[in-house]
Amino acid sequence: MAIGRDHDRATLVACMPFGLALTPWLGLEAGLIGAGAFAFGGLWLSPDLDTQSKPLHRWGALRWIWWPYRRLVPHRSLFSHGPLIGMALRLLWLLSCSLLGWLLLQELLQSLLGLSIASPSTLAASLKTNALARPRMVLSVALGLEASVWLHLLMDGDPLPVEWHRRPRKRKRQ
Ligand SMILES: [Zn+2]
Repeated sequence: MAIGRDHDRATLVACMPFGLALTPWLGLEAGLIGAGAFAFGGLWLSPDLDTQSKPLHRWGALRWIWWPYRRLVPHRSLFSHGPLIGMALRLLWLLSCSLLGWLLLQELLQSLLGLSIASPSTLAASLKTNALARPRMVLSVALGLEASVWLHLLMDGDPLPVEWHRRPRKRKRQ
């Protein structure tokens, strides 16, 4: 199993070739965005956020947002190291924390300074409009994030989570 430094190095080495591979298919801009998503996925949204790790410490003062995730998700389980499901859960968790943070900020600014900022629903509508207008970018981000997970899993020595290898108990002879 690779250590954090190896994962970081491999992510940084692989992100640009990954972006280049996307370029003929999705265009240069999407290729660059895909490379960035790959790097962000490997360095900040790594499957190893389920344990004390370099990606966790990269969140700095905000690393506490991953505390419930670490408590609830066992290390190297299906829910952190599972293809597709691992990244989907981390994105969902990050989105939930961002939404909560935005609501708190909105409330604080309104009550202390009388300022109003865009509501989460306005932000979501704007994000949706942008995503629908630029499907290649959305695809390149999704591919970049998930590809970084696959690199991580391959370096861990196995692309499948530990649960998937548990053999069913042998039946007792009758
Ligand atoms: Zn791992």
